[in-house]
Amino acid sequence: MEIGLLPAMPTYSGGLGILAGDTLRAAADMGVPMAAVTLLHRKGYFRQHIDADGHQSDSPAIWSPEEFLEPLPPRVSVAIEGRHVLIRPWHRTVRGVTGKEVEVYYLDTALAENTTWDQGLTDYLYGGDSRYRLCQEVVLGMGGVAILRALGYHNIQTYHMNEGHSALLTLALLGEELEGQGLADISEAEIGAVRKRCVFTTHTPVAAGHDRFPLGLVTEVLGPEAVEPLARVDALSQNSLDMTYLALFFSRFVNGVAMRHRETAQAMYPGSTVSAITNGVHASTWTSRPYQELYDRHIPEWRYDNHYLRYAAGISLDEIWSTHGKTKKALLAEVERRTEVRLDPNAFTIGFARRATPYKRHDLFFSDEDRLRRIVDRVGPVQLVYGGKAHPRDEGGKAMIKRIIDASRSLGDAVKVVFLEEYDVGLGQFLTSGVDLWLNNPQRPLEASGTSGMKAALNGVPSLSILDGWWVEGWVEGVTGWAIGDESSIPAPAEAEARSLYDKLEYVVLPLYYTRPMGYAGVMRSAIALNGSFFNTHRMVRQYMANAYNLDGK
Ligand SMILES: *Cc1c(COP(=O)(O)O)cnc(C)c1O
Repeated sequence: MEIGLLPAMPTYSGGLGILAGDTLRAAADMGVPMAAVTLLHRKGYFRQHIDADGHQSDSPAIWSPEEFLEPLPPRVSVAIEGRHVLIRPWHRTVRGVTGKEVEVYYLDTALAENTTWDQGLTDYLYGGDSRYRLCQEVVLGMGGVAILRALGYHNIQTYHMNEGHSALLTLALLGEELEGQGLADISEAEIGAVRKRCVFTTHTPVAAGHDRFPLGLVTEVLGPEAVEPLARVDALSQNSLDMTYLALFFSRFVNGVAMRHRETAQAMYPGSTVSAITNGVHASTWTSRPYQELYDRHIPEWRYDNHYLRYAAGISLDEIWSTHGKTKKALLAEVERRTEVRLDPNAFTIGFARRATPYKRHDLFFSDEDRLRRIVDRVGPVQLVYGGKAHPRDEGGKAMIKRIIDASRSLGDAVKVVFLEEYDVGLGQFLTSGVDLWLNNPQRPLEASGTSGMKAALNGVPSLSILDGWWVEGWVEGVTGWAIGDESSIPAPAEAEARSLYDKLEYVVLPLYYTRPMGYAGVMRSAIALNGSFFNTHRMVRQYMANAYNLDGK
Protein backbone atom coordinates (compact mmCIF):
# COMPACT_ATOMS: atom_id res chain seq x y z
CA MET A 1 0.00 0.00 0.00
CA GLU A 2 2.95 2.35 0.56
CA ILE A 3 6.47 2.72 -0.79
CA GLY A 4 8.90 5.36 0.45
CA LEU A 5 11.61 6.15 -2.07
CA LEU A 6 12.32 9.88 -1.81
CA PRO A 7 11.63 12.52 0.86
CA ALA A 8 9.90 14.60 -1.84
CA MET A 9 7.44 11.80 -2.69
CA PRO A 10 5.03 11.59 0.30
CA THR A 11 3.71 8.16 -0.66
CA TYR A 12 4.40 6.44 2.68
CA SER A 13 3.41 6.83 6.31
CA GLY A 14 6.23 5.10 8.13
CA GLY A 15 8.26 1.96 8.56
CA LEU A 16 6.22 -0.26 6.24
CA GLY A 17 6.75 2.04 3.25
CA ILE A 18 10.38 2.76 4.01
CA LEU A 19 11.07 -0.94 4.34
CA ALA A 20 9.50 -1.42 0.89
CA GLY A 21 11.72 1.28 -0.58
CA ASP A 22 14.84 -0.13 1.08
CA THR A 23 13.94 -3.62 -0.15
CA LEU A 24 13.71 -2.38 -3.75
CA ARG A 25 17.01 -0.52 -3.49
CA ALA A 26 18.71 -3.68 -2.24
CA ALA A 27 17.05 -5.79 -4.98
CA ALA A 28 18.43 -3.33 -7.55
CA ASP A 29 21.91 -3.46 -5.96
CA MET A 30 21.81 -7.25 -6.17
CA GLY A 31 20.19 -7.57 -9.58
CA VAL A 32 17.16 -9.46 -8.26
CA PRO A 33 14.46 -9.70 -10.96
CA MET A 34 11.74 -7.85 -9.05
CA ALA A 35 9.08 -5.22 -9.77
CA ALA A 36 6.84 -3.42 -7.28
CA VAL A 37 3.25 -2.18 -7.41
CA THR A 38 1.68 0.46 -5.17
CA LEU A 39 -0.85 3.31 -5.35
CA LEU A 40 -0.01 6.84 -6.46
CA HIS A 41 -1.37 8.73 -3.39
CA ARG A 42 -1.72 12.05 -5.20
CA LYS A 43 -2.68 13.97 -2.05
CA GLY A 44 0.25 12.45 -0.18
CA TYR A 45 0.62 11.43 3.43
CA PHE A 46 -0.16 14.68 5.20
CA ARG A 47 1.90 17.67 6.25
CA GLN A 48 2.17 18.04 10.00
CA HIS A 49 1.80 21.30 11.90
CA ILE A 50 2.21 21.54 15.67
CA ASP A 51 1.13 24.76 17.39
CA ALA A 52 2.76 26.32 20.45
CA ASP A 53 0.50 24.32 22.77
CA GLY A 54 1.40 21.02 21.17
CA HIS A 55 -1.75 20.48 19.09
CA GLN A 56 -1.14 18.71 15.78
CA SER A 57 -3.07 19.72 12.68
CA ASP A 58 -2.65 18.42 9.16
CA SER A 59 -3.00 19.43 5.52
CA PRO A 60 -2.67 17.45 2.28
CA ALA A 61 0.90 16.93 1.08
CA ILE A 62 0.24 17.78 -2.55
CA TRP A 63 3.04 16.78 -4.89
CA SER A 64 3.53 16.50 -8.63
CA PRO A 65 3.87 12.92 -9.84
CA GLU A 66 5.11 14.27 -13.22
CA GLU A 67 8.29 15.49 -11.53
CA PHE A 68 9.30 12.05 -10.32
CA LEU A 69 7.41 9.50 -12.39
CA GLU A 70 6.72 8.69 -16.00
CA PRO A 71 3.19 7.77 -17.13
CA LEU A 72 2.85 4.58 -19.17
CA PRO A 73 0.32 3.92 -21.95
CA PRO A 74 -1.62 0.83 -20.81
CA ARG A 75 -5.06 1.20 -19.29
CA VAL A 76 -6.81 -1.62 -17.45
CA SER A 77 -10.14 -1.71 -15.70
CA VAL A 78 -11.42 -3.36 -12.53
CA ALA A 79 -15.03 -3.87 -11.48
CA ILE A 80 -15.94 -1.87 -8.39
CA GLU A 81 -19.58 -1.71 -7.22
CA GLY A 82 -20.55 -2.83 -10.72
CA ARG A 83 -18.67 0.04 -12.42
CA HIS A 84 -15.62 -0.33 -14.61
CA VAL A 85 -12.89 1.75 -13.00
CA LEU A 86 -10.03 2.60 -15.31
CA ILE A 87 -6.44 2.50 -14.02
CA ARG A 88 -3.19 3.75 -15.50
CA PRO A 89 0.35 3.09 -14.26
CA TRP A 90 3.19 5.52 -13.69
CA HIS A 91 6.66 4.21 -13.18
CA ARG A 92 9.97 5.02 -11.59
CA THR A 93 13.20 3.07 -12.01
CA VAL A 94 15.31 2.27 -8.98
CA ARG A 95 18.94 1.91 -10.03
CA GLY A 96 21.32 -0.17 -7.93
CA VAL A 97 24.96 0.29 -7.09
CA THR A 98 26.13 -1.56 -10.23
CA GLY A 99 23.46 -0.07 -12.50
CA LYS A 100 20.95 -2.92 -12.36
CA GLU A 101 17.33 -1.79 -12.22
CA VAL A 102 14.02 -2.50 -10.52
CA GLU A 103 10.75 -0.97 -11.74
CA VAL A 104 8.13 0.50 -9.43
CA TYR A 105 4.57 0.99 -10.70
CA TYR A 106 2.21 3.53 -9.13
CA LEU A 107 -1.48 2.95 -9.92
CA ASP A 108 -3.61 5.99 -10.68
CA THR A 109 -7.40 6.27 -11.16
CA ALA A 110 -7.50 10.04 -11.82
CA LEU A 111 -8.71 9.63 -15.38
CA ALA A 112 -11.51 11.63 -17.02
CA GLU A 113 -13.38 8.41 -17.92
CA ASN A 114 -13.90 7.60 -14.22
CA THR A 115 -16.54 9.10 -11.94
CA THR A 116 -15.34 11.89 -9.68
CA TRP A 117 -15.39 9.55 -6.68
CA ASP A 118 -13.40 6.87 -8.50
CA GLN A 119 -10.87 9.48 -9.62
CA GLY A 120 -10.10 10.09 -5.96
CA LEU A 121 -9.47 6.43 -5.12
CA THR A 122 -5.70 6.79 -5.42
CA ASP A 123 -5.51 10.15 -3.58
CA TYR A 124 -5.13 9.35 0.11
CA LEU A 125 -2.93 6.85 1.90
CA TYR A 126 -4.91 5.43 4.83
CA GLY A 127 -7.64 8.06 4.38
CA GLY A 128 -11.39 7.73 3.98
CA ASP A 129 -13.71 5.08 5.38
CA SER A 130 -13.86 1.28 5.01
CA ARG A 131 -15.55 1.50 1.64
CA TYR A 132 -12.83 3.79 0.32
CA ARG A 133 -10.13 1.45 1.65
CA LEU A 134 -11.73 -1.68 0.21
CA CYS A 135 -12.07 0.00 -3.20
CA GLN A 136 -8.41 1.03 -3.00
CA GLU A 137 -7.49 -2.56 -2.25
CA VAL A 138 -9.38 -3.73 -5.32
CA VAL A 139 -7.31 -1.25 -7.37
CA LEU A 140 -4.08 -2.39 -5.72
CA GLY A 141 -4.65 -6.16 -5.74
CA MET A 142 -6.81 -6.90 -8.76
CA GLY A 143 -5.75 -3.79 -10.68
CA GLY A 144 -2.12 -4.57 -9.86
CA VAL A 145 -2.26 -8.01 -11.48
CA ALA A 146 -4.08 -6.59 -14.52
CA ILE A 147 -1.50 -3.82 -14.95
CA LEU A 148 1.39 -6.26 -14.74
CA ARG A 149 -0.19 -8.34 -17.50
CA ALA A 150 -0.77 -5.24 -19.62
CA LEU A 151 2.89 -4.32 -19.17
CA GLY A 152 4.00 -7.71 -20.40
CA TYR A 153 4.74 -9.55 -17.14
CA HIS A 154 3.37 -13.00 -17.92
CA ASN A 155 5.78 -15.30 -16.11
CA ILE A 156 5.88 -14.03 -12.57
CA GLN A 157 7.21 -16.73 -10.30
CA THR A 158 6.28 -15.20 -6.95
CA TYR A 159 3.80 -12.56 -5.80
CA HIS A 160 5.00 -11.14 -2.49
CA MET A 161 2.17 -9.54 -0.49
CA ASN A 162 3.46 -7.01 2.01
CA GLU A 163 0.66 -6.85 4.56
CA GLY A 164 -2.86 -7.93 3.69
CA HIS A 165 -3.70 -4.73 1.76
CA SER A 166 -2.80 -6.38 -1.54
CA ALA A 167 -4.40 -9.77 -0.80
CA LEU A 168 -7.17 -9.38 -3.38
CA LEU A 169 -4.49 -10.17 -5.94
CA THR A 170 -5.16 -13.79 -5.00
CA LEU A 171 -8.69 -13.47 -6.42
CA ALA A 172 -7.24 -12.09 -9.66
CA LEU A 173 -4.86 -15.06 -9.89
CA LEU A 174 -7.71 -17.44 -9.09
CA GLY A 175 -9.69 -15.85 -11.91
CA GLU A 176 -6.78 -16.51 -14.29
CA GLU A 177 -6.59 -20.16 -13.20
CA LEU A 178 -10.29 -20.55 -13.90
CA GLU A 179 -9.90 -19.12 -17.40
CA GLY A 180 -13.23 -17.39 -17.49
CA GLN A 181 -15.33 -19.86 -15.52
CA GLY A 182 -17.08 -18.26 -12.57
CA LEU A 183 -15.23 -18.00 -9.27
CA ALA A 184 -17.94 -20.24 -7.82
CA ASP A 185 -16.35 -23.23 -9.59
CA ILE A 186 -13.01 -23.30 -7.76
CA SER A 187 -11.48 -26.59 -6.75
CA GLU A 188 -8.40 -27.65 -4.77
CA ALA A 189 -6.38 -27.66 -7.98
CA GLU A 190 -6.89 -23.94 -8.63
CA ILE A 191 -6.35 -23.06 -4.98
CA GLY A 192 -3.10 -25.02 -4.99
CA ALA A 193 -1.97 -23.31 -8.18
CA VAL A 194 -2.47 -19.86 -6.66
CA ARG A 195 -0.81 -20.89 -3.42
CA LYS A 196 2.28 -22.02 -5.30
CA ARG A 197 2.72 -18.46 -6.56
CA CYS A 198 2.18 -16.36 -3.43
CA VAL A 199 4.14 -15.46 -0.30
CA PHE A 200 3.01 -13.19 2.52
CA THR A 201 4.80 -11.05 5.06
CA THR A 202 2.86 -9.87 8.11
CA HIS A 203 4.38 -6.70 9.55
CA THR A 204 2.57 -5.93 12.78
CA PRO A 205 0.56 -7.54 15.57
CA VAL A 206 -1.37 -4.25 16.02
CA ALA A 207 -5.04 -4.67 15.02
CA ALA A 208 -5.17 -1.43 12.97
CA GLY A 209 -2.70 -3.01 10.54
CA HIS A 210 -5.14 -5.79 9.65
CA ASP A 211 -8.10 -4.78 7.49
CA ARG A 212 -11.48 -6.41 8.05
CA PHE A 213 -14.45 -5.51 5.91
CA PRO A 214 -18.12 -6.28 6.71
CA LEU A 215 -19.62 -8.88 4.42
CA GLY A 216 -22.37 -6.53 3.19
CA LEU A 217 -19.77 -4.02 2.05
CA VAL A 218 -17.69 -6.73 0.37
CA THR A 219 -20.75 -7.97 -1.51
CA GLU A 220 -21.53 -4.45 -2.72
CA VAL A 221 -17.99 -3.67 -3.82
CA LEU A 222 -16.86 -7.02 -5.25
CA GLY A 223 -20.22 -8.47 -6.27
CA PRO A 224 -21.93 -11.61 -4.91
CA GLU A 225 -19.88 -13.97 -7.17
CA ALA A 226 -16.70 -13.06 -5.33
CA VAL A 227 -18.10 -13.72 -1.88
CA GLU A 228 -18.70 -17.43 -2.39
CA PRO A 229 -15.04 -18.38 -3.01
CA LEU A 230 -14.00 -16.13 -0.13
CA ALA A 231 -16.30 -18.11 2.15
CA ARG A 232 -14.85 -21.38 0.86
CA VAL A 233 -11.29 -20.37 1.72
CA ASP A 234 -12.08 -19.32 5.29
CA ALA A 235 -11.23 -15.67 4.65
CA LEU A 236 -14.62 -14.82 6.08
CA SER A 237 -15.04 -14.91 9.81
CA GLN A 238 -17.66 -13.28 11.99
CA ASN A 239 -19.36 -11.97 8.88
CA SER A 240 -16.41 -10.01 7.63
CA LEU A 241 -13.56 -10.39 5.16
CA ASP A 242 -10.20 -10.55 6.91
CA MET A 243 -7.43 -9.57 4.49
CA THR A 244 -4.77 -11.20 6.64
CA TYR A 245 -6.56 -14.54 6.58
CA LEU A 246 -7.02 -14.23 2.84
CA ALA A 247 -3.28 -13.70 2.38
CA LEU A 248 -2.40 -16.50 4.82
CA PHE A 249 -4.67 -18.95 3.07
CA PHE A 250 -3.24 -18.39 -0.37
CA SER A 251 0.45 -18.27 0.53
CA ARG A 252 3.01 -21.05 0.26
CA PHE A 253 5.31 -19.18 2.67
CA VAL A 254 4.44 -16.79 5.47
CA ASN A 255 6.84 -14.79 7.60
CA GLY A 256 7.08 -12.29 10.42
CA VAL A 257 9.74 -9.58 10.42
CA ALA A 258 11.91 -10.61 13.40
CA MET A 259 12.44 -13.80 15.40
CA ARG A 260 10.35 -12.50 18.31
CA HIS A 261 7.61 -11.34 15.92
CA ARG A 262 7.47 -14.83 14.45
CA GLU A 263 6.45 -16.13 17.89
CA THR A 264 3.81 -13.43 18.29
CA ALA A 265 2.42 -13.99 14.79
CA GLN A 266 2.49 -17.78 15.14
CA ALA A 267 0.34 -17.50 18.26
CA MET A 268 -2.08 -15.21 16.37
CA TYR A 269 -2.36 -17.63 13.40
CA PRO A 270 -2.14 -21.16 14.79
CA GLY A 271 -3.45 -22.59 11.52
CA SER A 272 -0.43 -21.36 9.51
CA THR A 273 3.29 -21.98 9.72
CA VAL A 274 4.99 -18.64 10.29
CA SER A 275 8.70 -18.24 9.53
CA ALA A 276 10.94 -15.28 10.35
CA ILE A 277 13.02 -13.03 8.14
CA THR A 278 14.29 -10.12 10.15
CA ASN A 279 14.01 -6.68 8.57
CA GLY A 280 16.93 -4.56 7.52
CA VAL A 281 17.63 -1.09 6.14
CA HIS A 282 19.38 -0.06 2.94
CA ALA A 283 22.85 0.71 4.23
CA SER A 284 24.08 3.36 1.81
CA THR A 285 20.75 5.23 2.02
CA TRP A 286 20.90 5.41 5.80
CA THR A 287 24.61 5.96 6.32
CA SER A 288 25.49 9.65 6.72
CA ARG A 289 28.01 11.26 4.38
CA PRO A 290 30.85 11.37 6.97
CA TYR A 291 30.43 7.67 7.76
CA GLN A 292 30.15 6.81 4.07
CA GLU A 293 33.52 8.45 3.55
CA LEU A 294 34.98 6.60 6.54
CA TYR A 295 33.76 3.20 5.22
CA ASP A 296 34.88 4.03 1.68
CA ARG A 297 38.40 4.61 3.03
CA HIS A 298 38.59 1.46 5.17
CA ILE A 299 36.18 -1.06 3.65
CA PRO A 300 35.14 0.12 0.15
CA GLU A 301 33.43 -3.23 -0.57
CA TRP A 302 30.65 -2.29 1.89
CA ARG A 303 28.60 -0.59 -0.84
CA TYR A 304 28.34 -3.78 -2.92
CA ASP A 305 28.00 -6.15 -0.02
CA ASN A 306 27.05 -4.82 3.38
CA HIS A 307 28.61 -7.84 5.14
CA TYR A 308 31.93 -6.01 4.89
CA LEU A 309 30.74 -3.60 7.56
CA ARG A 310 31.84 -6.35 9.93
CA TYR A 311 35.38 -5.05 9.40
CA ALA A 312 34.48 -1.69 10.90
CA ALA A 313 35.83 -3.49 13.97
CA GLY A 314 39.29 -2.56 12.67
CA ILE A 315 38.66 1.20 12.47
CA SER A 316 40.28 3.23 15.26
CA LEU A 317 38.09 4.60 18.06
CA ASP A 318 39.44 8.08 17.45
CA GLU A 319 38.16 8.00 13.89
CA ILE A 320 34.75 6.73 15.01
CA TRP A 321 34.51 9.49 17.62
CA SER A 322 35.59 12.28 15.25
CA THR A 323 33.28 11.06 12.47
CA HIS A 324 30.39 11.11 14.92
CA GLY A 325 31.35 14.66 15.86
CA LYS A 326 30.63 15.67 12.26
CA THR A 327 27.22 14.00 12.11
CA LYS A 328 26.23 15.46 15.46
CA LYS A 329 27.22 18.92 14.30
CA ALA A 330 25.14 18.48 11.14
CA LEU A 331 22.08 17.48 13.18
CA LEU A 332 22.41 20.39 15.60
CA ALA A 333 22.74 22.80 12.66
CA GLU A 334 19.57 21.32 11.14
CA VAL A 335 17.74 21.64 14.47
CA GLU A 336 18.77 25.29 14.66
CA ARG A 337 17.75 25.90 11.05
CA ARG A 338 14.30 24.46 11.67
CA THR A 339 13.56 25.76 15.17
CA GLU A 340 16.12 28.44 16.04
CA VAL A 341 16.95 26.38 19.13
CA ARG A 342 20.67 26.01 19.71
CA LEU A 343 21.55 22.70 21.35
CA ASP A 344 24.84 22.03 23.13
CA PRO A 345 27.32 19.94 21.07
CA ASN A 346 28.92 18.69 24.27
CA ALA A 347 25.68 17.55 25.91
CA PHE A 348 24.56 13.92 25.67
CA THR A 349 21.89 13.90 22.98
CA ILE A 350 19.09 11.34 22.80
CA GLY A 351 16.99 10.80 19.69
CA PHE A 352 13.46 9.44 19.48
CA ALA A 353 11.45 9.53 16.25
CA ARG A 354 8.77 7.23 14.97
CA ARG A 355 5.12 7.29 13.95
CA ALA A 356 3.31 8.83 16.93
CA THR A 357 0.92 6.06 17.87
CA PRO A 358 0.22 5.06 21.47
CA TYR A 359 2.10 1.74 21.67
CA LYS A 360 5.34 3.51 20.71
CA ARG A 361 5.04 5.56 23.95
CA HIS A 362 6.96 8.70 22.94
CA ASP A 363 6.13 10.13 26.37
CA LEU A 364 7.47 7.33 28.59
CA PHE A 365 10.72 9.23 29.09
CA PHE A 366 8.84 12.02 30.84
CA SER A 367 6.95 9.90 33.35
CA ASP A 368 9.08 11.16 36.27
CA GLU A 369 10.37 14.68 35.67
CA ASP A 370 11.83 14.99 39.17
CA ARG A 371 13.95 11.92 38.65
CA LEU A 372 15.15 13.35 35.31
CA ARG A 373 16.22 16.57 37.04
CA ARG A 374 18.14 14.59 39.67
CA ILE A 375 19.89 12.48 37.00
CA VAL A 376 21.20 15.43 35.02
CA ASP A 377 22.25 17.24 38.22
CA ARG A 378 24.24 14.25 39.33
CA VAL A 379 25.70 12.82 36.12
CA GLY A 380 25.67 15.44 33.36
CA PRO A 381 23.48 17.26 30.87
CA VAL A 382 20.97 15.49 28.62
CA GLN A 383 19.04 16.94 25.68
CA LEU A 384 16.47 15.24 23.44
CA VAL A 385 15.35 15.56 19.86
CA TYR A 386 11.91 14.14 19.02
CA GLY A 387 9.94 13.57 15.85
CA GLY A 388 6.84 11.73 14.68
CA LYS A 389 3.51 12.26 12.95
CA ALA A 390 0.24 11.04 14.47
CA HIS A 391 -2.30 9.76 11.92
CA PRO A 392 -4.97 12.50 11.64
CA ARG A 393 -7.53 10.23 13.31
CA ASP A 394 -5.19 8.91 16.03
CA GLU A 395 -6.24 11.01 19.01
CA GLY A 396 -4.05 8.98 21.35
CA GLY A 397 -1.02 9.72 19.17
CA LYS A 398 -1.83 13.43 19.10
CA ALA A 399 -2.27 13.54 22.89
CA MET A 400 1.16 11.93 23.25
CA ILE A 401 2.78 14.69 21.14
CA LYS A 402 1.10 17.28 23.32
CA ARG A 403 2.48 15.63 26.47
CA ILE A 404 6.02 15.95 25.09
CA ILE A 405 5.54 19.64 24.33
CA ASP A 406 4.12 20.12 27.85
CA ALA A 407 7.05 18.25 29.40
CA SER A 408 9.54 20.29 27.40
CA ARG A 409 8.01 23.43 28.89
CA SER A 410 7.99 22.26 32.46
CA LEU A 411 11.55 20.89 32.25
CA GLY A 412 12.79 24.10 30.62
CA ASP A 413 16.57 24.33 30.54
CA ALA A 414 17.03 21.43 32.99
CA VAL A 415 16.49 18.93 30.16
CA LYS A 416 16.16 20.57 26.76
CA VAL A 417 13.62 18.90 24.48
CA VAL A 418 13.05 19.80 20.84
CA PHE A 419 10.13 18.34 18.90
CA LEU A 420 10.68 18.57 15.15
CA GLU A 421 7.66 18.63 12.83
CA GLU A 422 7.46 16.62 9.62
CA TYR A 423 9.42 13.47 10.46
CA ASP A 424 10.25 11.94 7.09
CA VAL A 425 13.12 10.17 5.33
CA GLY A 426 15.19 13.36 5.18
CA LEU A 427 14.81 14.23 8.86
CA GLY A 428 15.26 10.56 9.76
CA GLN A 429 18.70 10.62 8.14
CA PHE A 430 19.78 13.58 10.29
CA LEU A 431 18.32 12.15 13.48
CA THR A 432 19.50 8.56 13.33
CA SER A 433 23.06 9.64 12.54
CA GLY A 434 23.46 12.76 14.66
CA VAL A 435 22.36 11.78 18.17
CA ASP A 436 24.49 9.97 20.76
CA LEU A 437 21.82 7.42 21.69
CA TRP A 438 18.72 6.08 19.97
CA LEU A 439 15.87 5.50 22.42
CA ASN A 440 13.05 3.04 21.78
CA ASN A 441 10.47 2.08 24.37
CA PRO A 442 7.45 0.48 22.70
CA GLN A 443 4.93 -1.59 24.58
CA ARG A 444 6.09 -5.15 24.02
CA PRO A 445 5.31 -7.35 22.11
CA LEU A 446 3.83 -4.83 19.66
CA GLU A 447 7.02 -3.69 17.91
CA ALA A 448 7.21 -6.33 15.18
CA SER A 449 10.69 -5.25 14.12
CA GLY A 450 11.40 -1.52 14.20
CA THR A 451 14.04 -0.28 11.82
CA SER A 452 15.13 3.17 12.96
CA GLY A 453 17.56 1.63 15.48
CA MET A 454 19.19 -0.22 12.56
CA LYS A 455 19.71 3.11 10.76
CA ALA A 456 21.31 4.44 13.95
CA ALA A 457 23.62 1.41 14.21
CA LEU A 458 24.95 2.05 10.69
CA ASN A 459 26.02 5.46 11.95
CA GLY A 460 27.60 4.14 15.11
CA VAL A 461 24.68 5.24 17.29
CA PRO A 462 23.87 2.64 19.97
CA SER A 463 20.31 1.87 21.08
CA LEU A 464 18.75 1.92 24.51
CA SER A 465 15.62 -0.10 23.92
CA ILE A 466 12.92 -2.38 25.23
CA LEU A 467 13.73 -5.96 24.22
CA ASP A 468 11.20 -6.29 21.44
CA GLY A 469 11.38 -6.61 17.66
CA TRP A 470 14.88 -6.60 16.14
CA TRP A 471 16.55 -5.47 19.36
CA VAL A 472 16.12 -8.93 20.91
CA GLU A 473 18.58 -10.06 18.22
CA GLY A 474 20.80 -6.98 17.94
CA TRP A 475 21.27 -6.41 21.65
CA VAL A 476 24.52 -7.40 23.38
CA GLU A 477 24.43 -5.58 26.72
CA GLY A 478 27.12 -2.92 26.99
CA VAL A 479 28.54 -4.02 23.62
CA THR A 480 26.03 -2.85 20.97
CA GLY A 481 23.83 -0.81 23.31
CA TRP A 482 21.61 -1.42 26.32
CA ALA A 483 18.28 -3.00 27.26
CA ILE A 484 15.34 -1.48 29.08
CA GLY A 485 13.64 -4.14 31.21
CA ASP A 486 13.96 -7.91 30.79
CA GLU A 487 13.65 -10.39 27.93
CA SER A 488 10.05 -11.45 28.52
CA SER A 489 7.50 -10.77 25.78
CA ILE A 490 4.66 -10.25 28.27
CA PRO A 491 3.62 -6.59 28.70
CA ALA A 492 5.26 -4.98 31.76
CA PRO A 493 3.95 -2.06 33.86
CA ALA A 494 5.00 1.27 32.33
CA GLU A 495 6.37 2.54 35.68
CA ALA A 496 8.73 -0.43 35.95
CA GLU A 497 9.99 0.10 32.41
CA ALA A 498 10.47 3.83 33.01
CA ARG A 499 12.45 3.04 36.17
CA SER A 500 14.66 0.63 34.23
CA LEU A 501 15.21 3.31 31.55
CA TYR A 502 16.25 5.89 34.16
CA ASP A 503 18.50 3.43 35.96
CA LYS A 504 20.35 2.48 32.79
CA LEU A 505 20.86 6.10 31.86
CA GLU A 506 21.95 7.21 35.32
CA TYR A 507 24.24 4.35 36.27
CA VAL A 508 25.52 2.95 32.97
CA VAL A 509 25.08 5.01 29.80
CA LEU A 510 25.73 8.57 30.98
CA PRO A 511 28.72 7.70 33.21
CA LEU A 512 30.30 5.84 30.29
CA TYR A 513 29.77 8.78 27.92
CA TYR A 514 30.99 11.45 30.33
CA THR A 515 33.83 9.64 32.10
CA ARG A 516 35.08 7.10 29.50
CA PRO A 517 34.32 8.52 26.05
CA MET A 518 36.59 5.98 24.34
CA GLY A 519 34.59 3.24 26.06
CA TYR A 520 31.49 4.83 24.54
CA ALA A 521 33.20 4.95 21.15
CA GLY A 522 33.85 1.21 21.54
CA VAL A 523 30.09 0.60 21.84
CA MET A 524 29.54 2.80 18.79
CA ARG A 525 32.03 0.75 16.79
CA SER A 526 30.49 -2.57 17.82
CA ALA A 527 27.06 -1.28 16.85
CA ILE A 528 28.40 -0.86 13.31
CA ALA A 529 30.42 -4.08 13.13
CA LEU A 530 27.86 -6.40 14.73
CA ASN A 531 24.55 -4.76 13.79
CA GLY A 532 25.22 -2.62 10.71
CA SER A 533 26.71 -5.67 9.01
CA PHE A 534 23.60 -7.79 9.62
CA PHE A 535 20.47 -5.60 9.93
CA ASN A 536 20.54 -4.38 6.35
CA THR A 537 18.39 -5.16 3.31
CA HIS A 538 21.24 -6.86 1.42
CA ARG A 539 21.14 -9.67 3.99
CA MET A 540 17.34 -9.50 4.21
CA VAL A 541 16.74 -9.77 0.45
CA ARG A 542 19.21 -12.67 0.27
CA GLN A 543 17.15 -14.43 2.94
CA TYR A 544 13.93 -13.78 1.01
CA MET A 545 15.56 -15.23 -2.10
CA ALA A 546 16.68 -18.37 -0.29
CA ASN A 547 13.70 -18.97 1.97
CA ALA A 548 10.68 -17.33 0.37
CA TYR A 549 11.26 -16.87 -3.37
CA ASN A 550 13.17 -20.13 -3.90
CA LEU A 551 15.60 -18.29 -6.14
CA ASP A 552 18.65 -20.16 -4.90
CA GLY A 553 17.90 -23.29 -6.88
CA LYS A 554 15.94 -25.13 -4.18
C1 LIG B 1 12.77 4.32 9.60
C2 LIG B 1 11.58 5.18 9.62
C3 LIG B 1 10.40 4.72 10.22
C4 LIG B 1 10.31 3.39 10.90
O1 LIG B 1 11.00 3.41 12.13
P1 LIG B 1 10.60 2.42 13.31
O2 LIG B 1 11.80 2.35 14.17
O3 LIG B 1 10.30 1.10 12.67
O4 LIG B 1 9.43 2.99 14.01
C5 LIG B 1 9.28 5.55 10.19
N1 LIG B 1 9.32 6.77 9.61
C6 LIG B 1 10.45 7.25 9.05
C7 LIG B 1 10.43 8.59 8.42
C8 LIG B 1 11.62 6.47 9.04
O5 LIG B 1 12.72 6.95 8.46
